[in-house]
Amino acid sequence: MAVPQMSALHIPVTPENYAIWYQYYAETNLDLKRAIDGLIANKVEFTAAVNQGLYNNFIHEQSPEVIDNVQIETKLLINSLYSKISQLSSGTSDFSSSLHSLNEELQSNPSPQLLNELIVNISFEVDKVLLNNDLMKADIDSLGNELTTLKDEMTSLSKVAMTDELTSLNNRRAYEVFALEQVSLFSHSNIPCCLLMIDIDFFKKFNDTYGHLVGDKVLAFVAFALKQTVKGNDFVARYGGEEFVILLPNTELQDALTVAEQIKNRIADKQLTIGKEKKQHLGNITVSIGAAEIHPGDDSDTWLSRADEMLYQAKSSGRNCVKG
Ligand code: GH3
Ligand code: MG
Ligand code: MG
Repeated sequence: MAVPQMSALHIPVTPENYAIWYQYYAETNLDLKRAIDGLIANKVEFTAAVNQGLYNNFIHEQSPEVIDNVQIETKLLINSLYSKISQLSSGTSDFSSSLHSLNEELQSNPSPQLLNELIVNISFEVDKVLLNNDLMKADIDSLGNELTTLKDEMTSLSKVAMTDELTSLNNRRAYEVFALEQVSLFSHSNIPCCLLMIDIDFFKKFNDTYGHLVGDKVLAFVAFALKQTVKGNDFVARYGGEEFVILLPNTELQDALTVAEQIKNRIADKQLTIGKEKKQHLGNITVSIGAAEIHPGDDSDTWLSRADEMLYQAKSSGRNCVKG
């Protein structure tokens, strides 16, 4: 419902605008609904400034979880809508039947009600197209283009949301998603996975000595060293501050400990310098690492706390070492 209405009101289909209109029809935000109904009743034009105002006042102020939900829902909708629109524009003769089967698929799948409504909506559009094919084609094409743009923007938005700015590693949020996948993989198929928790030693002192900016460079160096040491499906993330996590899918503890030793040595062996012409020597930094293999009955928290416990042991036995 949102997309055709946005088209009718000449509102560009951007992620921000879509979030507004998605919530308008979902009726989860009554203040927003009242505001929009008021604008429509007073025939106010939805200019860029008006759209921005709605976003700032009613969407941006909300808790991140609400925005996350909108994004997830939006992605589902866009994917489904997009694939249907592509079929429509190519004018395949069996479109009607494939749409029908898609509708059936949807019934058997506990998708959100909204998704269902959209498919019904698309069926309606299809009937119109079958009657009035040529007239509709241009409209559908441009809707398709808008959706392509929206889909691309969504992809890059979620990439930004999952990336740590300083190191370009995955961030904690991305880690949580990946860890949940591994927990579920283990409970279904018994595929092992190990978690490494890596914490830079005496980093506060390093910052105090050389300054925060140099500290940031060291974080980027550690991130690079971690990436360099692991391979394939291994997942590296900055957990926060000077702490990193690595998930090693399909790996048992003994092999994870070997990887951890390599990481520890690679970092400890590096003579750190800054400046090109006049090199300043910063000496070395070290890391402590705790390792834990996933156990039956673990959730991502119990698993992480075992790795954390091992990290604590590594710290208390002198740092620059691995425990697991
Ligand atoms: P330990 O060996 O016990 O881990 O000691 P530590 O000093 O590394 O640990 P502590 O938790 O006391 O201090 C962590 C320090 O990490 C605090 C802060 O100065 C530094 N830090 C955290 N995040 C950043 C960041 O984004 N940039 C920089 N430059 N420093 C950071
Ligand atoms: Mg720490
Ligand atoms: Mg530390």
